[in-house]
Amino acid sequence: MNLIDGKATAARIREELKEKAALLTAKGVQPGLAVVLIGDDPASRSYVTAKERACDEMGLYSRDIRKPAETTEEELLSLIDELNSDDAIHGILIQLPLPSHIDSDRVIERIIPTKDVDGFHPVSVGKMMLGQETFLPCTPHGIIKLLEEKNIETSGAEVVVVGRSNIVGKPIANMLLQKCHPGNSTVTICHTGTKDLISHTKRADIIIAAAGRPDTITADMVKEGAVIIDVGVNRVPDDTKKRGYRLVGDVDFEGLKEKASYITPVPGGVGPMTITMLLYNTVLSAERRSNNAL
Ligand code: NAP
Repeated sequence: MNLIDGKATAARIREELKEKAALLTAKGVQPGLAVVLIGDDPASRSYVTAKERACDEMGLYSRDIRKPAETTEEELLSLIDELNSDDAIHGILIQLPLPSHIDSDRVIERIIPTKDVDGFHPVSVGKMMLGQETFLPCTPHGIIKLLEEKNIETSGAEVVVVGRSNIVGKPIANMLLQKCHPGNSTVTICHTGTKDLISHTKRADIIIAAAGRPDTITADMVKEGAVIIDVGVNRVPDDTKKRGYRLVGDVDFEGLKEKASYITPVPGGVGPMTITMLLYNTVLSAERRSNNAL
């Protein structure tokens, strides 16, 4: 088994970004990320705190904007308008999910695409699909970086993606479909409507599991030597842990670790890449601004 160590890759990329951020700052364009949290969901709060801490460590400017759960959609839209025209801000991140009285689509569409560092705006999604320069969504982009880091051949590979969400399944399938490197794969997307999941996973050279359900992929479903990318993050009850649960992915890691040629652990695989690619997009946005200003 070859473990794909997301922490190590993330740390390497962050070192490169730190240098770029310092150069940009010296030129008067310190990369800046605005993180907006509406409400007080504990999981969202801890994600937001992690993003802000990462910005500090890397020399990025971060603006922490926390608003009560009662914030109206109009108030949030006008906050986005302000951030869109603020020169200190190169990336705008609205932490999802939003309270149910706010239409997330309207909110995402209000972010100017040049600051859409999450890559969720329809313009960014469309450009990604067309293979044009844009901001790639962070988790799938992180997966691409991990495949690249290990020199895993994607051209001509049979890739099976399990899950079709807008933030993981659909974009990673699209990226690997592009006629470029890494990419050029033959991609199948599976979901709960798929009739015979195992018939697809069995012939895959690369499986990307993003179902959000433990043990979605077990050893009997995988061919010898397949590459396994586990995106899932699931809490399972565990009395031996102080917090009462442990984190597991979507694949049976223990059952698969000898059969797979490469496998990502959970935690420590795809997870550390997500925030790193957010910082990557923020630095890229500042770089684009700096180049345009010349
Ligand atoms: P999601 O929106 O809930 O989508 C899950 C997808 O998996 C859906 O398309 C669903 O099919 C499909 N699915 C569920 N059970 C299945 C099964 N038994 N067989 C086949 N397909 C199945 O989830 P998501 O946002 O993409 O996230 C997926 C997982 O990745 C979650 O555990 C999430 O926490 C994790 N995640 C991790 C990171 C990270 O940074 N590490 C980032 C994002 C997400 P239908 O469409 O038919 O319902």
